[in-house]
Amino acid sequence: MATKKRKVDSECRAFNDEWTWKYFFTVVKDKSVCLICNKAVAVFKEYNISSHFTFKHKNSNYKAMSEYERKQNVESLCKKLSARQKFFKKVNTIQEAATHASYIVAYNIAKNNKAVSDGEFDKQCMLEVCDVFCPDKKNNFQTVSLSRKTVTSRIEAIYKNLTSQLESKIGQFKFCSIAMDESTDINDTVQLVLFIRGVDDNFEITEELACMRS
Ligand SMILES: [Zn+2]
Repeated sequence: MATKKRKVDSECRAFNDEWTWKYFFTVVKDKSVCLICNKAVAVFKEYNISSHFTFKHKNSNYKAMSEYERKQNVESLCKKLSARQKFFKKVNTIQEAATHASYIVAYNIAKNNKAVSDGEFDKQCMLEVCDVFCPDKKNNFQTVSLSRKTVTSRIEAIYKNLTSQLESKIGQFKFCSIAMDESTDINDTVQLVLFIRGVDDNFEITEELACMRS
């Protein structure tokens, strides 16, 4: 199956610009996309593209149009498509920024030993400051999720990422040493803290808190 797929890809078919007005297709991210129903056809092959138009849109007004009418309609359909793409791109950028922002707040909450529930308070403050400085941007700030649940999952994700970074560094160590220390926390539980320090092939030294055990 995999070999067959590679064979098709290696034929390097190119999109023919005439297919735009003939079959109402355009190219979006290396795929030919139908301007009428937005369905993507993976291969740049005239047979696949023309049969999509012939069978899926056989009852549409587009079929009966002259070349001139088709070209005019294609232009307006392309405009609609690019407006839609711009809209989705903007939504995506805002969502990505909102996720990034919630990671920043969660990171600071964890680093400063604050309660995970502080996220909601932080957001409240952010929104009120926003009212003063940039009320038109308030919707963007609203999308930043800082609920207790989100903050907890962000901190867990950061923890997992840091752990895997440390593990991969430890894998590169040529020599390493371990230091341990013991302390009692406010609940009177004894905590053992373990630090690791090592050096890799490039003489780069890493020193990090490896774990803490009760
Ligand atoms: Zn279609």
